[in-house]
Amino acid sequence: MNSCSIEGCIKPVKAKGLCAMHHQRMLRHGDPNMVRPRRVKKSIECKWVNCDEEAVSKGYCSKHYYIQRVMNMV
Ligand SMILES: [Zn+2]
Ligand SMILES: [Zn+2]
Repeated sequence: MNSCSIEGCIKPVKAKGLCAMHHQRMLRHGDPNMVRPRRVKKSIECKWVNCDEEAVSKGYCSKHYYIQRVMNMV
């Protein structure tokens, strides 16, 4: 029995040398090695360095959105 051609994957081949999971990824992303980002997209983190508040506007949390707006006005 053949196993998936992806390195480290020992699942049986479903199609095109790939297991069901990797074949699915190939179809969806065009790349079987594509892994979904760890963070779910529903909450975006603030772009500010060392800030992990949830972004509410333009990629910043409410506090930092205010700060960068003020800074951009100068
Ligand atoms: Zn696989
Ligand atoms: Zn922030």
